Amino acid sequence: MHTPTIPLDARRRHHLKQALSERTHDLLIIGGGVTGAGIALEAAARGLRVALVEKGDFASGTSSRSTKLIHGGLRYLKQLDLGLVREVGRERAILYRLAPHLIRPEKMLLPIVKGGSLGRWSTMLALTAYDLLAGVPRAHRKRMLRKKAVLQEEPLLPAARLKGGASYYEYRTDDARLTLALIKTATAYGAICLNYLKAHSFIHEGSRTTGVVCTDQLSREQVEIKAHVLVNATGPWVDELRRLEHSLTGKRLFLSKGAHLVFAHRHFPVRHALYFDLGDGRMMFAIPRQDKTYVGTTDTPWPHSADAVCITTDDVQYILEGIRHMFPELHLTEKQVESSWVGLRPLIYEEGKEASEMSRKDEIFLLPSGLISIAGGKLTGYRPMARRVMKRVVQHLRKVGGQGARAARTDRIPLDGGPFADERDFQAFARTLTEKCRALDCPEHTAQRLATTWGRHAMALVEAVAARRHDTLLEAEVVFTIEHELACTPLDYFDRRTAKLYFDMPAVLREREAVEALFAERLNWDTDTRQRHHKQLEDAIAEARLQRLHATQAPPA
Ligand code: FAD
Repeated sequence: MHTPTIPLDARRRHHLKQALSERTHDLLIIGGGVTGAGIALEAAARGLRVALVEKGDFASGTSSRSTKLIHGGLRYLKQLDLGLVREVGRERAILYRLAPHLIRPEKMLLPIVKGGSLGRWSTMLALTAYDLLAGVPRAHRKRMLRKKAVLQEEPLLPAARLKGGASYYEYRTDDARLTLALIKTATAYGAICLNYLKAHSFIHEGSRTTGVVCTDQLSREQVEIKAHVLVNATGPWVDELRRLEHSLTGKRLFLSKGAHLVFAHRHFPVRHALYFDLGDGRMMFAIPRQDKTYVGTTDTPWPHSADAVCITTDDVQYILEGIRHMFPELHLTEKQVESSWVGLRPLIYEEGKEASEMSRKDEIFLLPSGLISIAGGKLTGYRPMARRVMKRVVQHLRKVGGQGARAARTDRIPLDGGPFADERDFQAFARTLTEKCRALDCPEHTAQRLATTWGRHAMALVEAVAARRHDTLLEAEVVFTIEHELACTPLDYFDRRTAKLYFDMPAVLREREAVEALFAERLNWDTDTRQRHHKQLEDAIAEARLQRLHATQAPPA
């Protein structure tokens, strides 16, 4: 891998804008979620000249709002989509190899209860089929457990209703960090990616779409970007862009909202991640992470603008009831919620189906003008999606006389923060980092957080503090995200760069002033700009802490 020609430095956005506008790219991707970022890497690795624009921060759409699991595809088994189970199973193993710092195995407990929709035999059959189809490694295969063993593993479960259970493995990730790692890796292969650049109109030459006009959301400057092929990878906004191209015909998106709540682990002290039955045919996850437990999700239609998505009283009540159903002893209420997030699944509409029944498959929409749109899918499947899109891109490039693409093996390109040979290599790195952190009086969990956020870059952060190039680790982190990860606002740092907004709200409240000061100083902000970003962060904190809970019917934008 190479170092990016133009660094992802928020102080040098003008260089990136210039590079975007001064030439015709082979491919322009609109949307910097996991789908767009995955396509950027796939195309850049094949030698194409790639540009990507994102209207907010990278991953600020659905790709920072998921359940944060690299699924093995168990739910597709229920829909009898065996091909998909095989595909995601294979992908999961590849991603773990490419980025073990970002993708961590997580043992899941699946309790079987009286009156639940899971039975012992059906669960055993499903998990056995899943192990085989998804090619699950031996150490991570399912184990059926008797009631006593389940209770030993998880004493919080309701003993009177419990019949037994099973354990299996999922892989946990940080969705936004995965997206950023893809953006950074694509950049190292020559892609030019910029956040806060909103595409708002298309440029045409004859009947062909040849570019977009964007507005820089930070400076209000307009930028024209031209390309031989354009891909619309805007997730929940895909139809909005198709509409802009006057092409919203045929299949459409169906937006389904999913919310998650975060509790201090001491209030929800599960020992393992759990995938549990709600008794109504739906399932819920409860996943311990750092010193928190997060729970979700809901699955309800969102007929409003994708920009207006918000968590409602109904969402909170649904999750709390789900917790009460499986953990009646806990008595959790809204008061114990430390943080929350909500996102939209960009599903492909299927007549007569409930949101939770609709397929999670991706779909490509082609326009005669050349615009390629992609929506649906999962984090887990970003690579196969990118490859399917690349086939169309290459076909179109041929038609318009653009350059050909060489072969590329993105299954062999370690993601930013690596490379790690395997799990042992990552563990050895994490141990060395822990030692270095200890010398700075930082606790072990800080070393863990750094290693699983930045991989090998974490060492440079710790060494910078040891060498007194930075006064604190916080300063080293913030400066790194500004200078190497295009963090443009304090919210970028707390949300998409570190997920502290969700998993360490006390740190956000403690650190926000210092972080705002660092951004203001590094990015030369005037008082108005500083106040604007201060308010943006305050709003995000209030929203996450449920201080602005919306009524049942959320207002359309
Ligand atoms: P997005 O991440 O939304 O990216 C689209 C981007 O386009 C946005 O950042 C947006 O700002 C940008 N954009 C929009 N309009 C413009 C414009 N005009 N100009 C420039 N940029 C624009 N998948 C899993 O694999 N595992 C899970 O555990 C999982 N859990 C989920 C739980 C929930 C509640 C939800 C909602 C989804 C979950 N998913 C999960 C699915 C997964 O998160 C999504 O499939 C994936 O993140 C979609 O990525 P995307 O890039 O297509 O969309």
